[in-house]
Amino acid sequence: MANISKIQIKLPKQTAWDDVASSFTREFCSSLGLSAESPLYVAATAGAIALPSHVKYANIVKKKHTEWTTQNEFPVEIPLPRSMIYHAIFVCPVSKEQSTEDNPPMMMPCGHVVAKESLAKLSKGGRFKCPYCPNESQPKDAREIIL
Ligand SMILES: [Zn+2]
Repeated sequence: MANISKIQIKLPKQTAWDDVASSFTREFCSSLGLSAESPLYVAATAGAIALPSHVKYANIVKKKHTEWTTQNEFPVEIPLPRSMIYHAIFVCPVSKEQSTEDNPPMMMPCGHVVAKESLAKLSKGGRFKCPYCPNESQPKDAREIIL
C-alpha cells in the first residue's frame, strides 16, 4: 500500500496561475469587445492622452474669443491608441435592447436609428412614421449601421 504522505502533486507556481487568469480575462473581454483593463485606468489614460489637445483648444478659444455653437462637442478628433478603441454598443431606443448581429441598428432616412426588429414592428412592411420625428419612410430606405 502506497504511503499517501509521500505523494506530491506539483501545482504550477502562483505566477503561472496569474498568467493564465490574465490570459482568460483578456480573451473574455476581447470577445465582448471590452478592455481587460479597469475602466478607471482606461478613462484616466485616455484623459491624459487627450489633455494636451484640450489645453490647446482652450487656449485658442480664449485667445480668439471663439465660441463653438455645438455644446458638449469637442471640435477636434483625439487620436487614441488602437487598444483604447472599442466597438460601440447600440441600445435600441424603442425596444431598449442591445443590438446583435441578427438585430442590427438601422438608420432611417431622417437619421434616427432603431433596431431592425423595432423597424419591422413599426413599419409592418409599409410606410411608417419615425418614433422621434415627423418624417415618414419605407423600411427599404433604412440602412444597416455597422458598429
Ligand atoms: Zn426621425
